[in-house]
Amino acid sequence: MTVTHAVRTLVKTTLFDCVPGLLRRGARASKRVALTFDDGPDDYTLRYLDKLDELAVPATFFLIGKSAATRPALVREYLRRGHQIGGHGYDHTRFTKLDRRALLDQCARTDEALGGVTTGRSWVRPPHGTVNTPSLVTLRLAGYKVALWSLDSCDYGDHDPAVVAERCSPPHVTSGEVLLFHEGQQWTLDALPAIVGNLRNAGYECVTMFDLMS
Ligand SMILES: [Zn+2]
Repeated sequence: MTVTHAVRTLVKTTLFDCVPGLLRRGARASKRVALTFDDGPDDYTLRYLDKLDELAVPATFFLIGKSAATRPALVREYLRRGHQIGGHGYDHTRFTKLDRRALLDQCARTDEALGGVTTGRSWVRPPHGTVNTPSLVTLRLAGYKVALWSLDSCDYGDHDPAVVAERCSPPHVTSGEVLLFHEGQQWTLDALPAIVGNLRNAGYECVTMFDLMS
């Protein structure tokens, strides 16, 4: 990471922390973190849910609306197993490329595919984490919680479970951290036992992003 990039990231994250309703991380006071998974549901989802059951940790899943629409049973399964679900766009188009009407339409169709959700207006994670002022204002005025993350596992680039696990374990992870992962990847699945084990050994509890922010 270059110095310019580091400074830009710092400025951006500092600004993000000032926007009400734009959620990146929880309180640093309690030793809790949230595991979040984007881009499901897909053919791997049940494996993720079984692994998380085995590890006894709840997580948050940000679902692509059109995938959720074709897999209603899986959508119910996330909830049945105690996880939080939120929207991730209907077709994963960057929100910054949509006008107000198209953005709200994507969110409404995703909400419908998610079955009306359980926590009032749904949470939404913008595809690629891309937001700008107009999309943010549109989402917030419509009552959505906009969920980003504070630590990127980079599991889209690194396919080695050990590398992903190391990046997502203490001391790199600290209290209140929201970790970003993706569904549909065997190496992410394989990294989870080490990540949860390392977090537990360091005294961290994994909770849903909803609980982390409550
Ligand atoms: Zn995504």
